[in-house]
Amino acid sequence: MIFNPAIETLALPQLRALQSERFVALVRYLYERQPFYRRQWDELGIDITAVKGIEDIVRFPFTKKTDLRDQYPFGMLAVAQSELVRIHASSGTTGKPTVVGYTRADIEMFSEVVARSLCCAGALPGMKLHNAYGYGLFTGGLGLHYGGERLGMAVTPVSGGMTDRQLLLLQDFAPEVISCTPSYALTLAEAIRERGIPLERFNLRYAVLGAEPWTETTRQAVEAGLGVTATNIYGLSEIAGPGVSQEDYEEKGGSHVWEDHFYPEIVDADTGQPLPEGRDGVLVFTTLTKQGMPLMRYWTNDICSLYYDSGSKRTHIKMSPIKGRADDMLIIRGVNLFHTQVEALLADMPEFTANYQLIIHREGAMDAVEVLVELSEAIYQAKGTRLPVQDEFLGALKRRLEKKIKDNIGLSMKVTLADRDALPRSEGGKLKRILDNR
Ligand code: ADP
Repeated sequence: MIFNPAIETLALPQLRALQSERFVALVRYLYERQPFYRRQWDELGIDITAVKGIEDIVRFPFTKKTDLRDQYPFGMLAVAQSELVRIHASSGTTGKPTVVGYTRADIEMFSEVVARSLCCAGALPGMKLHNAYGYGLFTGGLGLHYGGERLGMAVTPVSGGMTDRQLLLLQDFAPEVISCTPSYALTLAEAIRERGIPLERFNLRYAVLGAEPWTETTRQAVEAGLGVTATNIYGLSEIAGPGVSQEDYEEKGGSHVWEDHFYPEIVDADTGQPLPEGRDGVLVFTTLTKQGMPLMRYWTNDICSLYYDSGSKRTHIKMSPIKGRADDMLIIRGVNLFHTQVEALLADMPEFTANYQLIIHREGAMDAVEVLVELSEAIYQAKGTRLPVQDEFLGALKRRLEKKIKDNIGLSMKVTLADRDALPRSEGGKLKRILDNR
C-alpha cells in the first residue's frame, strides 16, 4: 500500500514545482523569523528577493552541527518557545546535545512521513507494531510510535533492552511488524536461536531497521533469524527523526527520501560542490515545511549517493545505504575505510555471524587494523562444541577472509577469529563497531 499516493507518486515536474514554491516560502520565513540565518545571509550579501526556485539553493551556505551547538539550546528556533509541543535532543556524546523543537504541525508532518515509511516497509493499518527503538530524548521511539498510530497500527512502546521480555511480547502479542536498530534485531534473532524457540511461534512479517549503518550481511541474518522482510529507515533528529527516507519492502536496494518535505543534495566532502546522481558524497538536507526549527542545507556528515529509479512504484529520489558518517571514516595508510565495507564482505561467508569489530592501533609508525569476526553456529555443529585452537580449517578460513579484504578493500588487515557470542551485542541502542586505540 502507498500511504499518500497523490504525493508519493507525484510526477517529477510537479514535485519540483512544489519544492520550489516551498523553498521560496522557507527562505522568506527564515529571514523574517530566524536571527541566525538573517545575520548570516546579510553578511554574505544574499538577496533573498532574487530567490525564485529550488535551483537557487546553491547560493546558500551549509548549516553545520557546530552552528546548532553554538546556538544551544534554543537559538535555532524560528518560533516562540511557547509554540513548541515537543523537544528532542541528540545523544551528544561529545559536548552539548543538539536540541530540536517541534510545533504541532511539525509533529503532524513527522508522523505522516513515518506512516508513509511504515507502509513502504510493508506495514498496513490494523497490524501491530512492536517498537523496540529507545524511548526518550532519542527521536526513534516516539517517532515510530506516532507514525504507527497515524497509519492505524496498534503500537507497543517496548523500547530497547530486556531481551527476554521482548521475546515474550513478540510471541504473545503477535505483532506483524518490529522496529529497532539492525544490531538489536541481530541480538533478538540470536536470542531466539539460543533459546530454541521455533519461528512459527512468532507472527512477524516485517522489520523496519535504522539509526546506524548496516549492509546486506545483516539483512540476510535478520531476515533468516526473525522470519521477516527487513528494510531500512533513515533519519536524524536535526531534520525530524526517523522517516526522512525509507526502503520499499519489494524493491529494496535504496531508500526513498520524502522529497516534498526534505530536499536532499549530495556534495563533495572537501569542496561542498554539488555532485551528480549516483556519486558518493555528503548528504545535505533542507527542510521544506518545518516551522519550529527549519534548517537550510544541513550537513549531515553521512556518506551516500542519490539516484532516481524509474522502475519504482514511487517517484521520490532514492538514497543508497549510508556507508558511514564522514567523521567515522578511517584513513588507514592513505586508504579511506568505513566499517560497513568489512561488514559487506561477510555476506556469503556462512562461517561467520554478522557481528564483528574493527580495532585500530599503531604498529610502529603505521596504523594497523585488526578485524574481530565471530564464528557462527555452523562451524560448531561441524566441529563439535569446543573449537580446536590449532585447526587447519580455521587457519584457512582466516586466510580466506584476509585475502577477501585485501582484494576488495586494498588493505591488509589481521583477522582474529572470536568464539561465538564473544563480541559486544546491542542492548537496543546504536552499536560501536570501531575501537580506535591510537
Ligand atoms: P545521534 O546524533 O544521537 O546519534 P540521531 O538519531 O539524530 O542521534 O542520529 C542520526 C544519525 O544516525 C544519522 O545522521 C546517521 O549517521 C545515523 N543513521 C540513522 N539512520 C540510519 C540508517 N538507516 N543507516 C545508516 N545510518 C543511520
